[in-house]
Amino acid sequence: MCHAFLTDSNFYQLLFQIDQSIAEEVRERGGGCGGVLHAAPYPRKPRGIRSALDESYQSRLSFCCSQDGCRRRSTPASVRFRGRKVYLGVIVVLITALQHGLTEPRRRRLIEELDVAPQTLWRWRRWWRERFVATRCRRALAGQFIPPILTACLPASLLERLTGEGLAERLVQLLVLICPVTTSTSSLRVSLNPQKM
Ligand SMILES: [Zn+2]
Repeated sequence: MCHAFLTDSNFYQLLFQIDQSIAEEVRERGGGCGGVLHAAPYPRKPRGIRSALDESYQSRLSFCCSQDGCRRRSTPASVRFRGRKVYLGVIVVLITALQHGLTEPRRRRLIEELDVAPQTLWRWRRWWRERFVATRCRRALAGQFIPPILTACLPASLLERLTGEGLAERLVQLLVLICPVTTSTSSLRVSLNPQKM
């Protein structure tokens, strides 16, 4: 694997800790109705890299309101999972970013190693081009970068503007920045400042 952090369990532990701190904020805020939030994780089976993932990757953190008659779901934003997609966010970001960055042979090797189907790649690219650009998250980000991020080259154009030392650090920063798009049931603003991590 040409990106050593992808097989490093510490890297995934860090992402899990970030997810935990986001989830803790959501839980403390409680249900909108005043009810208490109880853990109700969603099972997940992430594809691609299994060896470095522990059991924390078998589920996505989520809550259910305990109030009778409410039972509303609150799924915190995540730097690990996106919706019901089977690939982890870091893999989607990395592979789609490499398209505008590192050499084609490296990207091809990674796609082979992770066994990503061509139509999946195509969907990921389209997601950045059509879906992500229309999100509130993207508009909020636009105000934070001068000169503006080139939307045609997302996510590479965002990745290269972050200040993390290595690629792994910048990927984590990016995942924190875009994590609001990973949930529709929790609008809590993520208070982590990725530039200071
Ligand atoms: Zn409730």
